[in-house]
Amino acid sequence: MTHSSEPSSPAIAPPPESVLPHGVSSYARHRSHQVTFERTEGAYLFDASNNRHVDFALGLGPLLLGHRPPRVTEAVHQVIDQVDLTAGVTNIEVEFAASLVDLIPCADKILFQSSGSEAVHLALRIARATTGRKLVVKFEGHYHGWLDPIFASAPGVLPDTSQSSTARPPVPNVQGEKIRDDELVVVDWGDIDALQELFAQHGDAIAAVIMEPVPYNFGAFAPSHEYLSATRDLCTRNGSLLVFDEVVSGFRLGLGGAQHIFDVTPDIAVFGKAIGAGFPLAFVAASDASLASVSSNVVRQGGTYNAHPIGVAAGLATLEVIKADPDFYASLEHISALMQAGIERIAAKHNVPLTVNRFGSVLQTFWGLESPPQNYQEALRSDTATIQRLFEGVTAHGVYIPQRGLIYLSSVHQPTDVQVAIDAIEASLQAL
Ligand code: PMP
Repeated sequence: MTHSSEPSSPAIAPPPESVLPHGVSSYARHRSHQVTFERTEGAYLFDASNNRHVDFALGLGPLLLGHRPPRVTEAVHQVIDQVDLTAGVTNIEVEFAASLVDLIPCADKILFQSSGSEAVHLALRIARATTGRKLVVKFEGHYHGWLDPIFASAPGVLPDTSQSSTARPPVPNVQGEKIRDDELVVVDWGDIDALQELFAQHGDAIAAVIMEPVPYNFGAFAPSHEYLSATRDLCTRNGSLLVFDEVVSGFRLGLGGAQHIFDVTPDIAVFGKAIGAGFPLAFVAASDASLASVSSNVVRQGGTYNAHPIGVAAGLATLEVIKADPDFYASLEHISALMQAGIERIAAKHNVPLTVNRFGSVLQTFWGLESPPQNYQEALRSDTATIQRLFEGVTAHGVYIPQRGLIYLSSVHQPTDVQVAIDAIEASLQAL
């Protein structure tokens, strides 16, 4: 069987907005200048005119190995020649789950899903059923997918500061959401006093505390080990479950997730994005103790496509690629630091208030702040309209960066790609 690498001739398609609301298929993909892409390879996207764009959006995170990494593509081709859905269990699914259990500190068992949003939904259902409690604590500005009721007080929503700073009612991100104040409460991330006070008042009602252990979705803030471990202690003392949403941090920071790096083990963790190398794959990893409701069959997970062989094959191949290179994460750190230094250099050269936070291979840029922010409240003061214009401007220079200035690096980006990005950001800066 041959797999042609030739680009297919561009189809004649109507304007995107005529058939897709806003011309895209996810609100997170919206840009005012639209480019339609035809082909992807390595660190690059190619548009309909075969122009090359160096890609730092990376599918909004998953493409840790770049586009169509050869080993993953080969594994996916092999698997689709062999098996599709079985309505049973496959050997590769079990092999993959066993590898994940070995790598992830909190994992006794794996529950496969197809997207991060679904996996978060499952994690919270398990936590509520296992503890017999309703209340979930989330943090301002942390994103856990677009499903009700957790799509609240996520990036883009201004906190209701008229409310107590200890714990606030959730603010829906969009109209049409169904959110109950007695099921979700919002706290400032990093403020251990606020969390302690909330536990003192409502500890016996809290089923779970969910967080992005590294808050990547708005800020790319570095977490403090003390805060993570104090939150762990509070959950343990109150019989609440700690849920780490590692959809972005998982496999980007290391094979054991942020939980391994910070040596703080949650009860349940959710993974997606990077492990699937661009194919639909997500999972919940949990300790046996926190799966009591699943083991007793009180909670059930569904999903026709769970553990789809394509995702599983991609996941196994991703692990293989990472494990084959002992310098994988050191090289990623090096190229990411280069990007950070380049942005800081042009900001200083042009004396503009462009600042950047970085943790590992994800960077978040800000405009109009004196220094890179350390929490969501500070980050909210960033001038997002200018950031948007800055990063829409780079598109004309062959660089693709999400308009909210969140930059992802991959293992295939080279220093020359980073230089192209820095030059493009500088040109866009001068045109602002
Ligand atoms: N959690 C986090 C931390 C995420 O960043 C995302 C996606 N950006 C999700 C959950 C939801 O994942 P998905 O888009 O696959 O549903």
